[in-house]
Amino acid sequence: MTAMLRVAVPVPLRRLFDYLPAPDCDVAALKRGQRVQVPFGRQTLVGVLWQVVTETAISTDKLHAADAVLDAAPLLSDSVLELCEFAAQYYQHPLGDVLTTALPVLLRASGRTGSAPKGEMLPGWRLTELGWQTDPDSKKKAPRQRALLLALRANEHGLLQAELAREDFSPALMRQLAKAGLIEKFLLAPADDHVERRAAFVPAPATISLNPDQLAAIAAVGAKLGQFAPFLLDGVTGSGKTEVYMALIDAVRARGEQALVLIPEIGLTPQTEARFRARFGDDIAVLHSGLTDKQRWQAWERARTGAAQVVIGTRSALFVSLPKPGLIVVDEEHDLSFKQQEGFRYHARDLAVWRAQREQIPIVLGSATPALETLRNARSGRYTRLQLSGRAGVATMPLLRCLDIRGQQLDEGLSGSLLAAMQRHLDAGAQVLLFLNRRGFAPTLMCHDCGWVADCARCNAHYTLHQKIGRLRCHHCGSERAKPKQCPSCKSQNLLPLGAGTERVEQAIQRHFPEQPIARIDRDTTRGRDSMSRWVEAIRARRYRILLGTQMLAKGHDFPDVTLSALLDVDGALFASDFRAPERLAQLVTQVAGRAGRGEKRGEVLLQTHHPEHPLLTTLMSGGYPAFAELALAERENQQLPPFGPQVLLRAEAPQMALAEALLKRARDQLAAAGLMALGPVPAPQALRAGRYRAQLLIEGGPRSALQAALTKLLPQLETWPEARKARWSVDVDPQEMA
Ligand code: ADP
Ligand code: ZN
Ligand code: ZN
Repeated sequence: MTAMLRVAVPVPLRRLFDYLPAPDCDVAALKRGQRVQVPFGRQTLVGVLWQVVTETAISTDKLHAADAVLDAAPLLSDSVLELCEFAAQYYQHPLGDVLTTALPVLLRASGRTGSAPKGEMLPGWRLTELGWQTDPDSKKKAPRQRALLLALRANEHGLLQAELAREDFSPALMRQLAKAGLIEKFLLAPADDHVERRAAFVPAPATISLNPDQLAAIAAVGAKLGQFAPFLLDGVTGSGKTEVYMALIDAVRARGEQALVLIPEIGLTPQTEARFRARFGDDIAVLHSGLTDKQRWQAWERARTGAAQVVIGTRSALFVSLPKPGLIVVDEEHDLSFKQQEGFRYHARDLAVWRAQREQIPIVLGSATPALETLRNARSGRYTRLQLSGRAGVATMPLLRCLDIRGQQLDEGLSGSLLAAMQRHLDAGAQVLLFLNRRGFAPTLMCHDCGWVADCARCNAHYTLHQKIGRLRCHHCGSERAKPKQCPSCKSQNLLPLGAGTERVEQAIQRHFPEQPIARIDRDTTRGRDSMSRWVEAIRARRYRILLGTQMLAKGHDFPDVTLSALLDVDGALFASDFRAPERLAQLVTQVAGRAGRGEKRGEVLLQTHHPEHPLLTTLMSGGYPAFAELALAERENQQLPPFGPQVLLRAEAPQMALAEALLKRARDQLAAAGLMALGPVPAPQALRAGRYRAQLLIEGGPRSALQAALTKLLPQLETWPEARKARWSVDVDPQEMA
């Protein structure tokens, strides 16, 4: 019998492919998870061996031979392989593509063997035995010597010469201390060479004495190490969740195990990294999108080999293999960035729970505003709820109030009462924080004489005016052009910006508070990985008293001097077509409220609205997020919306709407034959984007298993339909956004 390799190849087809082994291949020694280089059409691709089989549907003389097996042993652990298999089924995505997600980019290319990247050794310095025994304070008269000794103390594995140079430690200084026998030179492997180990220079914080809530949470999770146990850790930003994670990670490390910490895109700042590094030294591997492919591979290797016991990363770090997993943490679990919105549309939090169960380890989901999905699990007792009630220190909840702006005169969206409140708080020496979820100057540019509107030709959307750079920009497809000097339709020069974005509100605020510099924080002012942290630093240093931003400003930052926060426009979310919009609004309001009034000063949160009597707002005002969540869950249950009924969205886009709809109609009819309800096809909320027409089919109701089974049957057929060649399509299980 001929043995054949069944390989998961990274192509958009929901099936595996069989190959003959290469002539020199020892088939008996092969294991699932080894990478295999194979010919595929005219390409050479790297797939993952899934199975060795002896039977195939294709006659063996038609089979191609694999080029080579690339790894001596599988690079993906059994549990990650199973996780991928589960994810492929659950999210109805091709297994080959899912497995590719689990590999660093460098290992997806052909011709790469899987041996660990050779870390280049670089010169570094560390304390000698004598250096350790020397009290840095004995060098009080030589502050640079003292600083260097402190820095090396904070880093028992030493620091790179280059790192020390960056902190202005001169070679002469090092020679001097070396001569005194306090430090020595040696060769150091850069741990993750992307890391600026400034954290090393932050003196380790005095050990905090944890409060009773924190201790209780740590005890509860700690008691479950070594078994599957899901927890919801409920506490506002600043309530000490990270300290809880770190204490648990200590416990996990003491057992010789690894901890995986997933953090939202925006939460993984250099500060977060520095904080973990200050605590765990070089025992961490950090994975985020700002790394080069090589850095990612190195960090991935350190996790996979167990060289790093603490692995911190954004969404895709979930797929890192860990030889000794002990704990998973998902911080800000409600955050939308855990859901991948394109390609393999998985939810990292949901898969993390599955993985924790497979690995038989505890998982902690942290949030002040848990997703309704998570709350339901906590309510039903599936997850154990742990509460951190107070903030470290004083815990007065801020005053939450609606500002009724009906009939009020607004200056670029700012009401008189809001301006007065700002004045009050500024006079008291505090900082104020304003939110508006619309960047740019104005969302529309219109001709005052003929009504012409600047529209993106490739999307059915208006251009946003960016006044400072004098350009029109489409926020949907990214296309842009210069702001016209006159109306292209009637040649009038009377062009009016309609509505207000952050740039315009900034100008208005500046008029009212000319002496106050304003920190405007949105996607336009925070390009580059470090720029957000520079803003945060500047704000904490009180170089700005008025902060204005989109919701990126609401997440995870701690500004102790902010006593007033305001949401300029909440009505949009109250009346959005997306049923999740109220949940997001409530989360935003709560996050913002959690941010106002740290310390002794009582904070105030104001919501400008035309609908102060709206039940969502009144419930939120009186009972906070928990009361809102109860209401929202009851409503969802009534309508059998998620998390009570499953939803799947089948999307299609094509140069003509009819082509997109034709594919979805055929899918709908097929599903109907299987007894499943599908709504549509209808044009997507954004029906034209980047020149392509978009339609969608919403499949809901019924037990999830029936839905899954029907899709598993449908999609491989759909792939072969002629309609599927004329439209681009995708499937989104548990969609988070309907756009
Ligand atoms: P979260 O992760 O919930 O935002 P953190 O763990 O980051 O909260 O804590 C916020 C701040 O309060 C940090 O500076 C932290 O060091 C400090 N902190 C946390 N717990 C305590 C405590 N028990 N005593 C004193 N300070 C604490
Ligand atoms: Zn005109
Ligand atoms: Zn566009």
